[in-house]
Amino acid sequence: MGMRIVRESPYRVRIEREGDMRVPGVVFASRALLPDPVTDRSLLQVVNVATLPGIVVASFAMPDVHWGYGFPIGGVAATDVDAGGVVSPGGVGFDISCGVRLLAAGLERAELSGRVLQKLMDELGRAVPRGLGRRAVWPLAGRAQLERVLAGGSRYAVEQGYGTPRDLERCEDGGAVGGADAAAVSARAMERGLGQLGSLGSGNHFLEVQAVSEVHDEIAAKAFGLGPGQICVMIHSGSRGLGHQICTDHVRAMEKAMRRHSISVPDRQLACAPAGSPEGRAYLAAMAAAANYGRANRQLLTEAARRAFRGVCGTDLELVYDVSHNLAKIETHRVDGTARRLCVHRKGATLALPPRHPDLPEDLADVGQPVLIPGSMGTASYVLAGVAANPAFNSTCHGAGRLHSRHQAAKAVSGRELRDRLEGAGIAVRGASWRGLAEETPEAYKDVDAVVAAAEGAGLCRTVARLVPLGVVKG
Ligand code: 5GP
Ligand code: MN
Ligand code: MN
Repeated sequence: MGMRIVRESPYRVRIEREGDMRVPGVVFASRALLPDPVTDRSLLQVVNVATLPGIVVASFAMPDVHWGYGFPIGGVAATDVDAGGVVSPGGVGFDISCGVRLLAAGLERAELSGRVLQKLMDELGRAVPRGLGRRAVWPLAGRAQLERVLAGGSRYAVEQGYGTPRDLERCEDGGAVGGADAAAVSARAMERGLGQLGSLGSGNHFLEVQAVSEVHDEIAAKAFGLGPGQICVMIHSGSRGLGHQICTDHVRAMEKAMRRHSISVPDRQLACAPAGSPEGRAYLAAMAAAANYGRANRQLLTEAARRAFRGVCGTDLELVYDVSHNLAKIETHRVDGTARRLCVHRKGATLALPPRHPDLPEDLADVGQPVLIPGSMGTASYVLAGVAANPAFNSTCHGAGRLHSRHQAAKAVSGRELRDRLEGAGIAVRGASWRGLAEETPEAYKDVDAVVAAAEGAGLCRTVARLVPLGVVKG
């Protein structure tokens, strides 16, 4: 299909509405970052999403957009819940509530010698379960306890002694999503969840020791607890096998229910149901449960990192923020001048609340929400802040975004070569497998500096600080 693409500004193009599209596509990208509409299927996915029942304003793509299951990764789509708008598991992704948290250490780069860094990385490597194994920081006692995790997320973890109440103030949703229902979670998903709480997972997930290399916005950085040279820990993980199983289960249920709801979609992977239907509600309840599992998971990984930092450096770690980048949320936004209840899907896209948004903690009201953007284990990562008048329902990018498939990446470099190269550049590596490491080579990702510049240029966020890696524990 030949789509009509119109460049509206240096960081924004519109894909004209045609055929079954209910809204146009809008891609926030410079010329260099815009995916090729012919060889790359991600723009076709933006077009497909634009056909979903109830979608409003546009099918959006962030500057880090790339191909995903049904929806592109880097996609944002809002549907009108009170006008038959759908919810689609593919619009959230398999790793429900996958996200990032950033911790600030009471330590500067100059105070961390190479020898101490190696010791710290050894300790973190030991303390953080990863890869496909079944080790976990917190092996749950049984189904009843897992149900409490699914209902309470990070809040339950903190109640059980994993972290402090102050942590919860710096978590999206205060650490737990409402409306979770374990009854909507299959026995298989529960079983997968029991043994994995407090584990990184594979490949793209990581725990990284970083240092602030540039402060772009001093006031916001200070409010976030960040300063020049500061040592930080970034954690990227999600809801593990439990979230994956929930996505699989509910895609299947929706495939069956679509005809009954008279919904047809251009791609089976866009299986969906009205957000208010029994299937839609069941998915949202299970999704919330998985989100809480993902948040508790990051809370537990935080405690493991804290123990390592206390033991090796004698310093603590303060939570800057925890935000997910794979989630659907029911939010109220003004569309054409009226307030509407929308189901906002963000898949590989990060919530970015503007200053003075009611969901922000009081001490961040003036600066907006911290937005955490990982780049790659060999390049930079960023801290951004939400801004007013965001054109995409308070959303921005979630990373650099993949450029090459895992397969392509692993063909280009061996894990050992890559490890040696990173170590040579002063980045300590604690991997899970050579193959997994090679799949994550920095060349497999887009240029994170360009992605962040595009996101800022498009009015999605502003840059607060840039971070560089010192050591990575890779899933
Ligand atoms: P995703 O959630 O799509 O799997 O990954 C989010 C982003 O994390 C990717 O687009 C990539 O830019 C970034 N990323 C992947 N691996 C690493 C890593 O080891 N370190 C850092 N800092 N970023 C990474
Ligand atoms: Mn993930
Ligand atoms: Mn992720």
